[in-house]
Amino acid sequence: MSEIVIENVSKTYNTKDGRIHALKQVNLSVETGDIYGIIGMSGAGKSTLVRCMNFLEVPSEGRVLIRGKSLGDYSEKELRKQREQIGMIFQHFNLLMQKTVVENVCFPLYIQGKSKKEARERAEELLDVVGLKDRANAYPAQLSGGQKQRVAIARALASDPRILLCDEATSALDPQTTASILDLLKEINKNFGITIVIITHQMSVVRKICSHVAIMSDGEVVEQGLVTDIFTHP
Ligand code: ADP
Ligand code: ADP
Repeated sequence: MSEIVIENVSKTYNTKDGRIHALKQVNLSVETGDIYGIIGMSGAGKSTLVRCMNFLEVPSEGRVLIRGKSLGDYSEKELRKQREQIGMIFQHFNLLMQKTVVENVCFPLYIQGKSKKEARERAEELLDVVGLKDRANAYPAQLSGGQKQRVAIARALASDPRILLCDEATSALDPQTTASILDLLKEINKNFGITIVIITHQMSVVRKICSHVAIMSDGEVVEQGLVTDIFTHP
């Protein structure tokens, strides 16, 4: 089944310097259980595309379907519910610096209306999944970059998402830490059946973890398919 379908999506930004065509008639589909890479240079439109998948951005044209339903089919309330199904992690982690690790993971659980006790228990389980149980009471500033990203992953998993969107999630990390985060993402994909979309400008990331890839350039998808088909040719 298709988890995400991008159907003829265009996005135009109107700026004081004129119109920017960030996406031009993009089509792609991500199947359930894929680890799907979106690769391209800075400015290619990767973030815009992923923000469309997360309903943070409304396409100027075309449709975004999540499990066969488009954004327009939902009421405001359903949309909020739908957003919970999509976790996101970022290059700079976006943690709450004044809160401990465990409180960062509890945050989305409180928003869902979980009690303090329930949230705490679930957060501790998730910290165990990402290998950070022993740092529950540390503050983000006391952690390495890789550890911060593990906290962000635990937080993203808190709402039991079906999809995890990763926007340059390893770009601020050294190669060894990058490899360990990619291993963790692979495990999460395998063990929880979560579909993962990875935006990156690094070919090595796509090669290491992705099953499928779309190559973007100047707002267009110029090639897409199985990583083994696209990257094995000389
Ligand atoms: P990438 O993630 O591949 O670097 P982006 O999606 O961030 O690409 O950007 C694609 C193009 O759209 C760029 O030219 C960028 O400057 C422009 N852009 C992105 N977001 C906005 C915005 N909110 N307003 C105006 N232009 C934007
Ligand atoms: P990235 O390429 O990693 O997505 P950027 O630095 O291009 O990050 O963009 C950061 C934020 O600024 C994004 O939310 C994007 O929408 C916005 N943005 C990017 N380009 C422009 C632009 N030309 N005008 C206005 N906002 C922009």
